Amino acid sequence: MQFCGSDGNRRKTELAQQDYDVIVVGAGNAAFCAALAAREQGASVLMLERAPEDENGGNSRFTAGAFRVAYDGVEDLRALMPDLTDTEVANTDFGTYTTDQFFDDMFRVTRYRTDPELCERLVRQSFEGLNWLRGKGVRFVPIYGRQAFKIDGRFKFWGGLTVEAWGGGPGLVDRETEIARGLGIEIRYGARVVDLKFDGHAVHGVRVKSGGEIHELGARSVVLASGGFESNAEWRTRYLGPGWELAKVRGTRFNTGDGIRMALDIGASPYGNWSGCHAVGWDYNAPEFGDLTVGDNFQKHSYPWGIMVNATGRRFVDEGADFRNYTYARYGREILNQPDQFAWQVFDSKIVPILRDEYRIKRVTKVSAGTLEELAGKLEGVDPKGFLAEVEAYNDAVDTDTPFDPNVKDGRAARGLAVPKSNWANRIDEPPFEAYQVTCGITFTFGGLRVDPDSCQVMDSDMAPIPGLYAAGELVGGIFCFNYPGGTGLMSGTVFGRVAGIAAGAAANAGG
Ligand SMILES: Cc1cc2nc3c(=O)[nH]c(=O)nc-3n(C[C@H](O)[C@H](O)[C@H](O)COP(=O)(O)OP(=O)(O)OC[C@H]3O[C@@H](n4cnc5c(N)ncnc54)[C@H](O)[C@@H]3O)c2cc1C
Repeated sequence: MQFCGSDGNRRKTELAQQDYDVIVVGAGNAAFCAALAAREQGASVLMLERAPEDENGGNSRFTAGAFRVAYDGVEDLRALMPDLTDTEVANTDFGTYTTDQFFDDMFRVTRYRTDPELCERLVRQSFEGLNWLRGKGVRFVPIYGRQAFKIDGRFKFWGGLTVEAWGGGPGLVDRETEIARGLGIEIRYGARVVDLKFDGHAVHGVRVKSGGEIHELGARSVVLASGGFESNAEWRTRYLGPGWELAKVRGTRFNTGDGIRMALDIGASPYGNWSGCHAVGWDYNAPEFGDLTVGDNFQKHSYPWGIMVNATGRRFVDEGADFRNYTYARYGREILNQPDQFAWQVFDSKIVPILRDEYRIKRVTKVSAGTLEELAGKLEGVDPKGFLAEVEAYNDAVDTDTPFDPNVKDGRAARGLAVPKSNWANRIDEPPFEAYQVTCGITFTFGGLRVDPDSCQVMDSDMAPIPGLYAAGELVGGIFCFNYPGGTGLMSGTVFGRVAGIAAGAAANAGG
């Protein structure tokens, strides 16, 4: 096969005949699920990944590996985690997380804007999808560290998030890579897909930039699984709005919207919440993009137990509106909207022992003080008088009659304030005090491509499927809107990656 760059000046490149049944663009979780499912159909599969091998795995590598999955009880969890011991089961209250609960969470946090058919598939196939991944050889364990508290000697899970991949995001991606290679799936790194081969009707392959040259590769089906546009400052500002160029990127620097752009270029229909994204409170001095040596530890997710103040010293969100899993993904935007895009999270010595591990890392923007007055002087960028007045008003409003219980929405509120706090309100009055400075860290974007929920085939703007083109993962639009329940990104990539891979593999078998 002979290929050349588009302008004719580029050097022609001879390649050996390299047509594949299925080409998957990307090598994150959604891409691996698509590749494994297509391989199951007997298809020959090539994965093309833009990042060099030592930065592989996309955002999936940066995750904690947490999966939101519906389960009816401990027996379902035993199926997913056969390594669970009887002692663990005896010492843990796993509760349930039924499909109804999952639906409720999706509808509530997206304010009923999630696409009903995509949501239906995501929720109903979550258990089956994860069990399929387990069957491929991925190992799962309970998230004891982050989603469970010990009560009377027994762990109790809260917030519907119970399962994580062994080894977190890195463990997940490394295992998926190993499994894919074992099944004969070829993976090429440093291979940036720049364009789709499209004849005006169907997609027949891709153009890929690799080693400084453009090559053309033919395939019967192409699955786009190349993430959203969170790492593209210009698109962030264009679609999310002014100020978003200043957000820090929590994950990979390679998700710049290439897959979305390529599909739109050939007439794909944009879909979903294009001005929306998942964004959290993230260390103020974190680097521009994610750092794999720190992973997700720049996040600061214990804010429900304390207060957050802005440059005026005032609180600006209800830190205890809901469990952390249901607020964290939208509070990044709230922080970005504050003067100079920062907030300080403030805790007293009662709460410090239950702060999450990420508060104890070395690269943290933190101050401590023996008095509130001393602390006020240390909160860089904050009006000290405003802060002291705010803490006083907040402390006076705390309902100290209701006991503090981090495992349930305890109703221990601070009411009668301009910004109330609905749960977990504790007076900030026991020294020493600690404060952590955060800004907005963007995780991934919600807008993307419209797909047929039954096949993940990409739809064009006439609502007709584009032959040969499929999509899965972050770049599928319509699933999340405004907000996101923690652990759903990996689950979505698994469910829709599998759907896309099955359909792409079957279409390739059928001859196109
Ligand atoms: C810090 C952090 C923590 C998170 N924690 C969790 C969690 O615990 N649970 C959860 O469910 N979700 C979590 N998420 C969200 C989760 O990472 C994503 O929802 C999920 O990983 C998306 O998977 P994906 O395969 O669609 O994208 P990715 O894993 O990002 O993969 C996309 C891949 O495509 C590649 N690519 C991009 N452009 C091209 C191109 N032109 N050619 C070839 N390749 C290309 C990229 O390099 C990348 O490897 C977290 C995200 C971050 C950043």
